[in-house]
Amino acid sequence: MKKEDSPRKVPRQKMPEQAPEKRRKNFEEVTLGFSPEMAVMEASRCLECKKPLCVEGCPVGVPIPEFINLIKNKDFSGAVRRIRAKNALPAICGRVCPQENQCEGKCILGKKGESVSIGGLERFLADFERQSGNIELPKKDKSTGSRIAVVGSGPAGLTVAGDLSVKGHDVTMFEAFHKTGGVLVYGIPEFRLPKSIVEAEVGLIEDLGVKIECNTVIGLTSSIDELFEEGFDAVFVAVGAGLPKFMEIPGENLVGVCSANEYLTRTNLMKAYDPNYDTPAPSGKNVVVLGAGNVAMDAARTAMRLGAESVKIVYRRSMAEMPARKEEIHHAEQEGIEFVLLTAPSKFVGNKDGFLSGMECIKMELSEPDESGRRKPVPVKNSEYIIECDLAVIAVGSGANPILAKKEPGIALSKYGYIIADQATGKTSKKAVWAGGDIVTGQATVIEAMGAGRRAADSIDEYLSGGDF
Ligand SMILES: Cc1cc2nc3c(=O)[nH]c(=O)nc-3n(C[C@H](O)[C@H](O)[C@H](O)COP(=O)(O)OP(=O)(O)OC[C@H]3O[C@@H](n4cnc5c(N)ncnc54)[C@H](O)[C@@H]3O)c2cc1C
Repeated sequence: MKKEDSPRKVPRQKMPEQAPEKRRKNFEEVTLGFSPEMAVMEASRCLECKKPLCVEGCPVGVPIPEFINLIKNKDFSGAVRRIRAKNALPAICGRVCPQENQCEGKCILGKKGESVSIGGLERFLADFERQSGNIELPKKDKSTGSRIAVVGSGPAGLTVAGDLSVKGHDVTMFEAFHKTGGVLVYGIPEFRLPKSIVEAEVGLIEDLGVKIECNTVIGLTSSIDELFEEGFDAVFVAVGAGLPKFMEIPGENLVGVCSANEYLTRTNLMKAYDPNYDTPAPSGKNVVVLGAGNVAMDAARTAMRLGAESVKIVYRRSMAEMPARKEEIHHAEQEGIEFVLLTAPSKFVGNKDGFLSGMECIKMELSEPDESGRRKPVPVKNSEYIIECDLAVIAVGSGANPILAKKEPGIALSKYGYIIADQATGKTSKKAVWAGGDIVTGQATVIEAMGAGRRAADSIDEYLSGGDF
């Protein structure tokens, strides 16, 4: 190889995107994906490490160097088959996984320059496969006759359902909403993850033989014991962490203050953004979003697209401590979202009719790092001021989804209401009941929920093949 062809010399390919001035007014996807030429060029950057650390960074163990090598040889179908053997949701993971903290975070090229765009390549392959219409699903084992109920259809539930179906079991997935996908459909907006992509990947899980029953709230419609009475042999609980948290400050009951969960669900799942639907959505000209995680970025960028004149993210720490993905922060800045940092809300103020008119804030400064290394925000005396706003969206985290967990006394919960489950297997304190995803860990990531689903599927399969619980 000539020196100028060395993988280290090829720059990381920049994925094409819609221009910020255009996309801040529409809900179409922001990033547009690699062309085949760009994908081959990006794949050529891989150093083919003898000990590939990227694989260690992937909770579902995708054979990353193998699929990248197949892209180099333009064998896109072979490459996507390698991914599918380990990951049933590649078009989703390629779009929303925080790769910078996982596979790409471990890539050797990233130590001195820019890591290989593993997520971009995964997305390219999944899109290539879907557009070609030539999808090869994993081969199914012969039927075992065992029946499994999966409660919740987010990434954890979908992974368990797909894996167990491939192992020959008869799987039924129950979902409270009228649509499957969990946060993938009701939380993450269309401009980051189009619903059609989720529908296509869920459709492939159905093609594996998984039955889906929507509009069914386990814990209300039927209990877990009733599922066993109906003939299920094992139950996997993946109900997520969708309970909104509030700020507990005065004025939170004013019209115009809402949780990010409600705001995003109305916009996404109930199509409030589509003028053909008459879903009422909280709307505002001057919007403040409280928090700085992915949820806050999604709410702020949604508000901009719904026609706000100004959108501010108010966060009590500095830019460096923001928990959202770097890419989301960058996209939000490009779209005109303002960041009001080192600032905490102290109360909401309203007009005589009970509508929000402003938010009182106090400036903060960061303390010296404590024993954990984290710098605490401390209020600056007499620094209160008012930000005028007519919509405030609270995105400061969420808690355990309580409906099922609280109704099942046999399942041990942590003091915060999360289900206690074994990390390696997902087993709970109730016989033949497993749990995984956000309802066990608290809000985490898509790929971590999928990893928990994969481990639980192996454990359920072992139990159904005659193992102990
Ligand atoms: C707005 C937002 C943006 C995010 N962005 C990212 C991102 O960019 N990248 C990333 O990796 N992660 C992101 N996350 C986090 C990620 O989506 C979650 O960690 C992941 O979806 C958790 O998967 P899960 O299967 O545990 O639960 P969920 O996706 O929450 O799915 C749980 C499902 O269970 C259903 N359910 C609840 N109770 C019952 C019941 N009693 N009976 C039947 N069904 C029930 C719910 O309706 C839901 O469909 C984001 C989260 C949010 C809210």
